[in-house]
Amino acid sequence: MTSVATRLTLLPTRPSGTAATLEGGSCNAALTQDPWEFPAPLSAGYGPGASQDDAAPAGSPAQPTIPQRYRDASPEELDAMITAAKRTLGERAVVMGHFYQRDEVVKHADFIGDSFQLAQQAKAHPEAEAIVFCGVHFMAETADILSRGGQSVILPNPAAGCSMADMADADSVEECWADLMDVFGPHATDAHGRTIMGEDGEPLASVIPVTYMNSSAALKAFCGRNGGIVCTSSNARTVLDWAFGRGQRVLFFPDQHLGRNTAKAMGVPLEHMPLWDPRRELGGNTAQVLQDSRVILWHGFCSVHKRFTVGQIEKARAEYPGCTVIVHPESPMEVVDAADSSGSTDHIRKAVEAAEPGQTFAIGTEINMVNRLAAEHPEHTIFCLDPVICPCSTMYRIHPGYLAWVLEELVAGRVVNQVSVAEDVAREASVALERMLAAVPRA
Ligand code: SF4
Repeated sequence: MTSVATRLTLLPTRPSGTAATLEGGSCNAALTQDPWEFPAPLSAGYGPGASQDDAAPAGSPAQPTIPQRYRDASPEELDAMITAAKRTLGERAVVMGHFYQRDEVVKHADFIGDSFQLAQQAKAHPEAEAIVFCGVHFMAETADILSRGGQSVILPNPAAGCSMADMADADSVEECWADLMDVFGPHATDAHGRTIMGEDGEPLASVIPVTYMNSSAALKAFCGRNGGIVCTSSNARTVLDWAFGRGQRVLFFPDQHLGRNTAKAMGVPLEHMPLWDPRRELGGNTAQVLQDSRVILWHGFCSVHKRFTVGQIEKARAEYPGCTVIVHPESPMEVVDAADSSGSTDHIRKAVEAAEPGQTFAIGTEINMVNRLAAEHPEHTIFCLDPVICPCSTMYRIHPGYLAWVLEELVAGRVVNQVSVAEDVAREASVALERMLAAVPRA
């Protein structure tokens, strides 16, 4: 069997006009443009490009203009610059590459993994002066929180945010929390208004905030100071179990799909999972609906994973009878239900690695990771469920030009694009992260 992953020859890095092959079509024609040629001013939303003039949400960090020589360099020249700078820096710098990162960047990574694995690697390398994080902003923040004091965490392009993380801002979550406290009060109560006590003899909380790793440090800090916790896509069930042991219900943000898929698998009925729309009064719910809830889901989603559909799964099964469909739990519930399994990027990777040769996998996650799995496992047939190429546009902002620039600046003794979480925020966020690390499933 051969791999049939849709080829993703992503953007011409230089010179302008280099052909980009996007077989099957792409979700945005701008993906084939020169990355440095975006004349449009900053505007709302994330665009697909990598230039400092590319679109970004209002108020998000912007990338200053980098020297012309990085923008004029060919892919080969940038590759050589990065390699030489890394050799000069040696152990002084470690480069982290997320699974969803483009190949021409990830090839230079000392460690490749999901956001949590990379944060753990940041913690495991106190000898490095700098951690160059080729991922997105919330990941660099988490690495800064977990790394030792004195280390610099660098995001090669600070405009590499995450549209899902942006969907829950600290002010909106604080307002939601105030509304929920007005409805519930701080402690869990039964139908007669009596306080419910926990196994430890203390009153159960009325609601426990749970934030997905894909959120700002400010939201992790919010969870830390309000009895809450952080989760990843690998441990969401364990974390919800932890939360139900301490509270009557959960407020889950920002990703509604991970929250819904996880709680449903734990037996929580859909009618007890109202959606919280921050633009509407009480999130668009009545007080009674909130009272009856077990998990209140924030109205957030991943623009990459929401593209997967049941129709794509049916097509894959028709074309490849017997294929195994694995999707990421950021996908919509119907898609997770129709798949053979769902799980984190690590779950997907391990499932492919553990399979007997000759299997066919239809995978619902970001295209760079799917293509890499296909290249690494020619013994299987591996393809992405979505025939339209739609990489994570914010990961995509880590162009090799920025990586070359930040590394050469380090060689020159200058730290640029440092991501630094304020001490008080980091302290509270650490509380929520440490709770996650300590959480174990209830017997
Ligand atoms: S894949 Fe989705 S959740 Fe992950 S960084 Fe990109 S936009 Fe954010």
